[in-house]
Amino acid sequence: MNILLVEDETKMAAFIKEALGEQHYAVDVTHDGDDALRMAEVNFYDLFILDIMLPKKDGLAVCKELREKKNNSPILLLTAKSKLQDKVRGLDLGADDYLPKPFEIEELLARVRALLRRSKQDKSAILQVADLVLNQTTQEVSRAGKPIELTSKEYALLRYLMIHANEIVPRTMIIEHVWDVESAAFTNVVDVYINYIRSKVDKDFSCPLIHTVRAVGYILKEPESV
Ligand code: CA
Repeated sequence: MNILLVEDETKMAAFIKEALGEQHYAVDVTHDGDDALRMAEVNFYDLFILDIMLPKKDGLAVCKELREKKNNSPILLLTAKSKLQDKVRGLDLGADDYLPKPFEIEELLARVRALLRRSKQDKSAILQVADLVLNQTTQEVSRAGKPIELTSKEYALLRYLMIHANEIVPRTMIIEHVWDVESAAFTNVVDVYINYIRSKVDKDFSCPLIHTVRAVGYILKEPESV
């Protein structure tokens, strides 16, 4: 896990770097906002710790620019000013958390752990096949950026097919995992629901993603490259 620490007070920076290093994080340190943005261009960081009061470009401006450049790594803001205004502005600009100075180092470490854990979960929450995207946290589905409304059963079926993308999924497997045992007698329920999701996911697009595998089941896969 790589962390960029942006803090102009050198003693404070050294202290935080040491504490994070003891927890086996790899920490780069820089002392001004311009340099922070330069480093973020050339290196990947799993997390940013940004002091707000910085020379050249302040932490809020750095935060804003990172998000404008589509950098989605979590940002923890630090500041001596415990002004609510700064906190709200920081969060509006895309920061994920805020820690007023002075703080206990244990608290900083706990927040770092929480932010890294959350960002890991967020990444695995997204299933994507070609331009079809399913977010397991918000349960939102879209294709080519257009939202798709699904009933809860349709959602469960599509999610199951996406988890097993590019694999042939037999009808019996779908029944077992998406329906309860009582529905298992009616295997054509799968075909009926496949038609429902096809009409929402594939109908308006030139490349269908859901394919029938005769006598077996279905496969959801990337379109063949042309
Ligand atoms: Ca400062």
